Amino acid sequence: MKATRTVPLAPADAEFFGAARLRAARMQPYLASAVFSLIPVPVPGYGTFGVDRWWRVYVDMDQARAWGVEATAAVLLHEANHVLRDHHGRADRAGVTSASHHRWNLAGDAAINDGLLADGLPLPDPVLPSTLALDPGGLEETYFRQLGERAAVSTSVECGSGSGGERLPVELDDDTDEPAVDDVDATAIRRGVAHEVTAAQVQGIRVSPGLALWAKALLTPQVSWRSLLRSAVGRPLRAAYGRRHPTWQRPDRRGDSRPDFPSPGSYRERPEVAVVIDTSASMSTRALDAAVTELDDILRRLSAEITVIACDQHAVTPQRIRRLGQLELTGGGGTDLRVGIAAAAELRPAPTVTVVLTDGWTPWPVAAPARSCLVAVVIGDRAPLPVGPGIVAIRIDEP
Ligand SMILES: [Zn+2]
Repeated sequence: MKATRTVPLAPADAEFFGAARLRAARMQPYLASAVFSLIPVPVPGYGTFGVDRWWRVYVDMDQARAWGVEATAAVLLHEANHVLRDHHGRADRAGVTSASHHRWNLAGDAAINDGLLADGLPLPDPVLPSTLALDPGGLEETYFRQLGERAAVSTSVECGSGSGGERLPVELDDDTDEPAVDDVDATAIRRGVAHEVTAAQVQGIRVSPGLALWAKALLTPQVSWRSLLRSAVGRPLRAAYGRRHPTWQRPDRRGDSRPDFPSPGSYRERPEVAVVIDTSASMSTRALDAAVTELDDILRRLSAEITVIACDQHAVTPQRIRRLGQLELTGGGGTDLRVGIAAAAELRPAPTVTVVLTDGWTPWPVAAPARSCLVAVVIGDRAPLPVGPGIVAIRIDEP
């Protein structure tokens, strides 16, 4: 009972699946694009649904019919939450090992189902915080830690690699050519959904606390680009050389209310900004999410076109963009961002500020290009920060 390829659903199954997916999108419209991104893989006789880290949802359609459209819709929302909230990637950061996969899966299920049940969704046999004697409204990481302080937990769940849990026997191999949502696509879907979640909250629609926190963390930039970019203009660049500017990093992003946008005329002179974004294989989806969030904020602060160079070990053609939606990201190879930084220095007009967004696993130039400032934003806490004349290094968290 292993799926070997993503065969299309039989017509009657496709109709039922389509009805359940549509129902799910009506139940929680802010999750519509996530639900519609799931790729169904039929697994007759499987007995339930599961999801892999590539957004493939393994479905037993006989079981779905037994559940009915409403409950199947709720299950699809459950699976969408696993991949949307990157439970696979977060498991890594939470220190999940093969011995604690199951505990992490339970923690994720409790966090998701708590929100779905509060919205009155009819999940079949849900694992809830109360099932595990946990307080409602908690985060996955908190539940995971709390469960770890206990003796064995008898409740059993198996949601698949997309939940950060054990890989399911039915899952396709990681290296299959079958349809998948890759990290770059996932980043785009997550940002879209995070905006929808925020918009829903503004309209007074109830959103589960876990999802609301997730969206806020994803969309909140961590670097204070407003002051950083302003300071890079109209003052001798050597003032920035080799100095750290702690005020450029926001102290508390959770508590941070977005400061006022500068009015379009508030820069006496706009800096010419180039952004090199690391798209090498080592960049996790969360690192890419963080990079794109910072890039979005740079675009908003400047209200002008900037040049973006997506870079792994080969610089790609620079793109002039004004809005994030115009950005095309490619990459996936090894990392040498010096190539992209050199390509930025060749631009005309030459950039006054070159921003590099990276996980930091790259060789760095020994100094910033002549007459410019190099702002190195290193995402995550593992790679070393670069040092050198004209280089300003800032470390930010993976969301
Ligand atoms: Zn689950």
